[in-house]
Amino acid sequence: MASVPNHSELLHKLRQIDRQGYKCYKEIRGAYRYPGFVLHIDHVQGDPFAAPTRVCAVVPVQGRIPEAFLDDAVERTAVEDFLGRRFKSVKTSLVKGHRGIGKSGMIDIEAGTQKVLRRNAVVIAGGEIAFRFVVGLPAAGRTILGKEAAAMLSGEIPGIIAETLQIPREALTRFVHSVRDQETLRQALASRGLVAFVADGAILPRVSGVDDRPLAGGVPFVSPESLRVTLPAPHAGQISGMGIPEGVTLIVGGGFHGKSTLLNALQMGVYNHIPGDGRERVVTLPDAVKIRAADGRYIEKVDISPFIHDLPFGKDTRAFSTDNASGSTSQATGIMEALEADGRVLLMDEDTSATNFMIRDERMQRLVPRGKEPITPFVDKVRQLYTDHGVSTILVMGGSGDYFDVADTVVMMDTYRPRDVTQNTREIARLFPSGREREGGDAFGTIRHRVPLRRSFDPSRGKRDVKIDAKGLFMLLFGHTAIDLKDMEQLADVSQTRSIGYLIHYAAQRYVDGRTTLSEILDRVFEDLSRGGLDILTPYRTGNLSLPRKMEAAQAINRMRTLRVAP
Ligand code: ADP
Ligand code: MG
Repeated sequence: MASVPNHSELLHKLRQIDRQGYKCYKEIRGAYRYPGFVLHIDHVQGDPFAAPTRVCAVVPVQGRIPEAFLDDAVERTAVEDFLGRRFKSVKTSLVKGHRGIGKSGMIDIEAGTQKVLRRNAVVIAGGEIAFRFVVGLPAAGRTILGKEAAAMLSGEIPGIIAETLQIPREALTRFVHSVRDQETLRQALASRGLVAFVADGAILPRVSGVDDRPLAGGVPFVSPESLRVTLPAPHAGQISGMGIPEGVTLIVGGGFHGKSTLLNALQMGVYNHIPGDGRERVVTLPDAVKIRAADGRYIEKVDISPFIHDLPFGKDTRAFSTDNASGSTSQATGIMEALEADGRVLLMDEDTSATNFMIRDERMQRLVPRGKEPITPFVDKVRQLYTDHGVSTILVMGGSGDYFDVADTVVMMDTYRPRDVTQNTREIARLFPSGREREGGDAFGTIRHRVPLRRSFDPSRGKRDVKIDAKGLFMLLFGHTAIDLKDMEQLADVSQTRSIGYLIHYAAQRYVDGRTTLSEILDRVFEDLSRGGLDILTPYRTGNLSLPRKMEAAQAINRMRTLRVAP
C-alpha cells in the first residue's frame, strides 16, 4: 500500500476543484492514507441529489477485537453488526449534517434496528475492518463547496473512525455473548423435539405495528409449568421457558389476550435480536415460515391439489396459475411454495387467514355437498403435514374449536399469560364431538418442485442492462417488474429486500438453466453466499446489503409476475 497517496493529496484536489462544476468531484475517486486507516472513495455521486458517494474506511483489526470473536462466523457477524451500530451512533453525534443542497453533508451507514443480520456495511476479513458508508459531497446549486467537503473528509470522517474504534469492551462482549446464546438456543431446538422456545421474562409486545421496539410496561412472558424446558446457553447459563414441541400447536384465547403478539415473536425468532429487544431469547427453527392469505397475488403453476381440486370449469390445480389469487388459493399456494423451499414449520394466524381455507364445520358440510366444494380445509390437512412430511404447524385459532381434534398442544393466552389447556381441549372434544366428516383423503399429497425458466428474469430497464432497486421493505423493482412483497411478514430489513433483488439476478445468470429446480437453484446461491459473502451479488463494493433467508428469496421469486416455469 506504499503507493496510496496521503490524505493531504485529497485536500489538495478539493482546493483545486473548489467552486467548479459538481462533475469535477469525480476526480477525488481513489484511495487515501490517513493516520490509522485508508479511505477508499469508490463511487462519486453525479449530482447533489443522486445516490450519495460510496466510501470505505479500512483499518487494521490489530487487537481491537478479541481474537476468539473472529474465529466464529456467528460471533464475527455480531461484532460487525455492533461496529455498524457504533459507527451510526457516533456519526449521529459528530456530524454537522446540512452543508448545502440535496444530500450535501450527510454521512450514513446501514446499521439495522432490532435484528442482528449478516451485513456488508462492516466487514471484518484478512486482518482488516472495512466500514462502508455513504457521504453526500457538498454543493451550492451545482457548484462544489470544497471547504465543506474538506471539513467532512479530513475532519468528520477521521473523527468518526477514531471514536468508533474506542470500542467499549464490556458492551461489545455483552452483545456478542447474547447473539451466541441465541444461536445456541436455536440450535438446541431440533434435538429436543422442539420447534420454538420463549424464555421466561421475554417481552413480546412492540411499541406499535410500525415500531419494532419493545413496549414499555409489557408484561413479561411466563411459561406454563407443563411446557417449561430448560436449555443451556454458553454465557447466560441455563435458561428456562416455554418449549413448543413438534407437531400441531394451537394458540387459543380471547381477543386482545396476546395471541398474535406471541405468534409475531415466534415468526421473528428465526433471527437474532439485539440485547434489550425483549425477544432475544425467543427462538424458532430457522426454516419456520409465516403463511397468510395474500389475495391478488400472482401464482405460476403451483400444485395446490392437496388443498384445492375439482374447480368449476375443470381448471387444473396441479399446476395452478393466476394473476389475481383469491384468499384461499393464495394461502394454499403459500403453503405449497413454502414446502417446496424446505419450510419445516408453518406459522398461521386466523387474523390473516382465509376462513374458508381454515375451517368448514358440520353444518356447512351438510349444506354444501363435498362435490361442490373444491377446498379441503386446513383442519383436515394439518396432521398429515406432520405425519407425512414432518412439517409442524403453530396456529393462532381463537374462533374454531374444530382444531381441538388435530392438535398435539394447546396454549391459551389469558391476559398475556400462556396456560397449557391441552387436556381441557381433549375433554371438550370428547364431550362435544365436532360432527365433521374428514375430507381430503388419507394422505397429504405430493410436493411438486418447479423448474424456473431463464426468460422470467430480465433485469434491464431503459438504457440500463441491470436495474434493481428496493423501494422500501416490501417493494422490489427488478427491471420492469415491480414485485410486491407486502405479505412477506418475516422480511426484516430493506437491505434484505435489496439483496433479494441482486440475488435473483445472480441466480438467473448462473443457475437458472431450464433443468434445475427453484429450491436447488437457491441452495447453490446460498452456498455461494456463505463462502463468498454478500459482495458476490454486486459487481462493485456496496455496504447496503444484508443476508435474507432462502425462504424470502423463494417467496419473492414466486411473486414475480414474469415468473415462468417449465410445463
Ligand atoms: P390477540 O391476537 O389475542 O387478539 P394481540 O396479540 O393482538 O391479541 O394483543 C392485543 C394487544 O395487547 C396489543 O396491543 C398488544 O401490544 C398488547 N399486548 C400483547 N401482549 C402483551 C404483553 N405481554 N404485555 C402488554 N401488552 C401486551
Ligand atoms: Mg390476533
